[in-house]
Amino acid sequence: MIIRLYICIYIYMSCENCNQSLLNGVYYCDTSDYRVIDNMTDKNLIFIFKNHDLLSDDIEITDNIIVQYCNYQNCKYIKYPDEDQG
Ligand SMILES: [Zn+2]
Repeated sequence: MIIRLYICIYIYMSCENCNQSLLNGVYYCDTSDYRVIDNMTDKNLIFIFKNHDLLSDDIEITDNIIVQYCNYQNCKYIKYPDEDQG
C-alpha cells in the first residue's frame, strides 16, 4: 500500500498572483529601466520590470535592493522586503 502525502509545510513565500514559489534576486535600477537581476556580482538579467526616464547620472541609478520575485510565465511579481519595522 502506497500512501502519498502532499503536505505543504513550506508556506513561507509564494507569489500572490500565481502561487509559485518565490526566488531570490536583486531589484536593480539600470540606466534605462528597473530590472530584476540574479545578484550584484554577475548582474544577469532575469526580467525587466519597467522602463524609466531617469537621467544617466540620476542618484537612483544603480540603486538595488534584495527582493523575492516570480517570473513564472512572465508573471513579474516582486516582493519587497518589509520596511519600517517598528
Ligand atoms: Zn507569479
